[in-house]
Amino acid sequence: MPAADALLFTPGPLTTSTTVKAALVRDLGSRDSLFIELVADVRRRLVALATARSDEYTTVIIQGAGTMGIEAMIGTFVPRNGRLLVAVNGAYGRRIVHIAQVLGIDVTVVEGPEDRPTDTVAVAAALQADQTITNVAVVHCETTTGILNPVERLGEIVHARSVSFLVDAMSSFGAVPLDVANCHVDALVSSSNKCIEGVPGFSFCVARRAALAGCQGRARSVALDLLAQWEELERSGQFRFTPPVQILLAFRQALDELDAEGGVVGRMTRYRENHNALVTGMRTLGFKEYLDPTLQGWIITTFRYPADPAFRFEEFYSRLARQGLVIYPGKLTHADCFRIGNIGQLFPEDIRGLVIAIREVAAQMGFRPDAA
Ligand SMILES: *Cc1c(COP(=O)(O)O)cnc(C)c1O
Repeated sequence: MPAADALLFTPGPLTTSTTVKAALVRDLGSRDSLFIELVADVRRRLVALATARSDEYTTVIIQGAGTMGIEAMIGTFVPRNGRLLVAVNGAYGRRIVHIAQVLGIDVTVVEGPEDRPTDTVAVAAALQADQTITNVAVVHCETTTGILNPVERLGEIVHARSVSFLVDAMSSFGAVPLDVANCHVDALVSSSNKCIEGVPGFSFCVARRAALAGCQGRARSVALDLLAQWEELERSGQFRFTPPVQILLAFRQALDELDAEGGVVGRMTRYRENHNALVTGMRTLGFKEYLDPTLQGWIITTFRYPADPAFRFEEFYSRLARQGLVIYPGKLTHADCFRIGNIGQLFPEDIRGLVIAIREVAAQMGFRPDAA
């Protein structure tokens, strides 16, 4: 018998259900009609999760991690002589800037502090000041802190200027309600192993059909060309290169389980309960959150390091990991923090168990969580 899986309090890969893992124990040929139906079913269901106006949108699945999907979206949607404005308030926004730079795309960065949501006034001013900007990109839930950025308001601003709007919804899709049509989103990317709770292996782009159709001649990569991938999926129902067959089998099971939980609202409700159990427990121990509670989303929660020399993150992490409880380091530029994810097959009782383990580890290491 293998050891029981660890509980992953991380932003992905996540703890998955036994039934999701079991669904991939199967071989299926990539030209098998069952597989072609599976792909069509998954694509249709992802559009339905993204918008009520599903006739205007399509889904393109692309093999690889989430970042490959982001790189595909940026490389496919920004015109050859375009300019991309990226609203940055964390590491994932900075990653979009890096991708654009490597692809040779002109970038304008509107950067704000990591503990504040995107400054929509600053984005509007930057668009006003530079008419050459063709696309705006933002991260919905900036997983660096767990802050939720104002995609709806940004959509209005971007739409008023007829600029194309691209969203990294990696860690929010499926657990934070958002209608891509209402928010004027041209393309949004998420992946198989975040809030849908599948296993890692592909990302997907929900794209406005008309916008994607207009991307001819833009792709900077053969493999990460969303338009070419879409055309093949529409033409033959198949992928251009080896498809992640088993990952898709598991993903369909994950979509069934999302439906059974009550869809996006049901999943959001559980994650919120997890987040609430976490902050209640951690505050009782004396830990301090990094973000103002009104800005903190329910996907992942950031805590400050206790200012006690007996607190060493590596040891804290290892002592929890040895008990099968995996938390996540911080990624902030200006503050020492660690993060605890609320997503995946985790329930409030798992969170309460983690808080008890944290209390014990604090006692073993001899630090006071409330040291300031
Ligand atoms: C996880 C995440 C990514 C990157 O996904 P990978 O699968 O690790 O490439 C990008 N953006 C956000 C907001 C994320 O949470």
